[in-house]
Amino acid sequence: MDEQSNHTPTPSTAQQQSSSPTCKYVFVTGGVVSSLGKGIVAASAAALLEARGLRVTLIKADPYINVDPGTMSPQQHGEVYVTSDGAETDLDLGHYERFTSAKMRKENSFSTGQIYDRVINNERRGDYLGGTVQVVPQITDAIKDYIYRPSTDVDVSIVEIGGTVGDIESLPFLEAVRQIRSQLGSRQVLFIHMTLVPYLHAAQELKTKPTQHSVKNLRQIGIQPDILICRAERELPPRILQKVSITCDVRAEAVIQAQNMDSIYKLPLHLHSQGLDKVIVESLKLGSREPDLRGWQQITSNLDATTSECEVAIVGKYVNVIDSYKSVSEALIHAGIKHRTKVNIHYVDAEQLEIQDPAAVLGKFHGIVVPGGFGERGIDGKIKAITYCRTNNLPFFGICYGMQLAVIEFARSVLGLSHANSAEFGESNNQEHVITHLPNQTNTALNKGGTMRLGSLACQLLDGSKVKRIYGKGVINERHRHRLVFNNAYREQFRQQGMVCSGLTDDLEFVEVLELQDHRWFICCQYHPELQSSPRLPHPLFSSFVEEVDGGGV
Ligand code: GLN
Repeated sequence: MDEQSNHTPTPSTAQQQSSSPTCKYVFVTGGVVSSLGKGIVAASAAALLEARGLRVTLIKADPYINVDPGTMSPQQHGEVYVTSDGAETDLDLGHYERFTSAKMRKENSFSTGQIYDRVINNERRGDYLGGTVQVVPQITDAIKDYIYRPSTDVDVSIVEIGGTVGDIESLPFLEAVRQIRSQLGSRQVLFIHMTLVPYLHAAQELKTKPTQHSVKNLRQIGIQPDILICRAERELPPRILQKVSITCDVRAEAVIQAQNMDSIYKLPLHLHSQGLDKVIVESLKLGSREPDLRGWQQITSNLDATTSECEVAIVGKYVNVIDSYKSVSEALIHAGIKHRTKVNIHYVDAEQLEIQDPAAVLGKFHGIVVPGGFGERGIDGKIKAITYCRTNNLPFFGICYGMQLAVIEFARSVLGLSHANSAEFGESNNQEHVITHLPNQTNTALNKGGTMRLGSLACQLLDGSKVKRIYGKGVINERHRHRLVFNNAYREQFRQQGMVCSGLTDDLEFVEVLELQDHRWFICCQYHPELQSSPRLPHPLFSSFVEEVDGGGV
């Protein structure tokens, strides 16, 4: 993985920016219900434009008041996606990076909380010279500035407006994008609205009324959508699409359906076959070549031609909301696409595992992942799963907290340090043998992220290690989101018993990777490799893990 550590200061909050004269803006809104998959549609549209040789970026505008999702529970909001520059962002940015080669940074997402934070700070500083500060124009101007921030050096900026049209919170965002269209015009700004066309089983009918109402709502705000994307559970017949076109006043060729697919990675081709990218480039007068879709065709053909299936368990505590582990599950799927194996992912509740027989629960899986996490809940179940993998030679992949728990398991079971624990387990724990602890806060890499070590950092891999062979190189850059680190006092004891520290930070101060010598596949890393995997470029660690899992069997 080649990305560079690029922590850059955020632009001055008072700095006013204007639109790039050459960048075109595509705004994606949603109506009827939430969770329609706007992020995946925005990412697919971006992928198609990129396939036409256009330079794209994507932005997520979230109407919630939290300043960022860093402190939001994964159970409510899905995973926190970390960009290379260390921003804790919405999981949609993960889709953007998985579908395109655009690199997301801090400025590619913002929330109402950030907008108000900036406007209130400006007001306290006296920037408004005693004027009354209001939603229009100060809040909407700030939203426009944030939309314009990442649009230098790109041809198209696709901006997804979070939430659903009709929500109180979305209004300032919609007003801001309405103003952008009226200022820049229809050659530079395009609106895509996504709705749901439900099928009513009792009436045995598809219903377009919710779509009509949602478009009516948008029009009341002053926005007429140029393209409608109708999400549906099944294929929509032409007469339904025509009805939507007539009632919503959208050209027939710009009414596009997004029916449920067996893989999200088939969506770009599905949208292309209905002409989505053609409508966008024609409306925006974007000169571009015919799209090169060979990569997406290869992905689709691999998905349709799997030669095997394997069962992988993710043992975690947020298993009731599978979006909590979105990037991990997607990275497993990417590896499956590469190896033409269908990776069936099972979520195992770590807390339940505490009271269950691990062989009965885990015996049917070909490999186990213990992903990142925080806090004490469920740790005994995760440790039980790790013991099961270690002692049964079952492929094990420990990520971040998964690594920290793997070293505690090893210290307790192999080194005989029965009190081994983590500084995260609370004060009541025995303070002897703290295997993962808060490091020396003077370390520069840590200071950049406040209390968290965040973003992309370089790591050196040990000669002769499995991990170096897997990556095929000695220096990698991976993204982080954690506070605790492996306690270096134990490195030698671990090595003597066959658990080798095979990846270290550039300054050799922190352990980044550990691997178990006499085991089929037991690798754990402090960083989050899942954040850099894409279907076109599966991450080497996930690729190797799935290859082993697929070739093995229990
Ligand atoms: N809770 C652990 C820490 O803060 C691990 C974090 C994670 O898994 N992302 O270090």
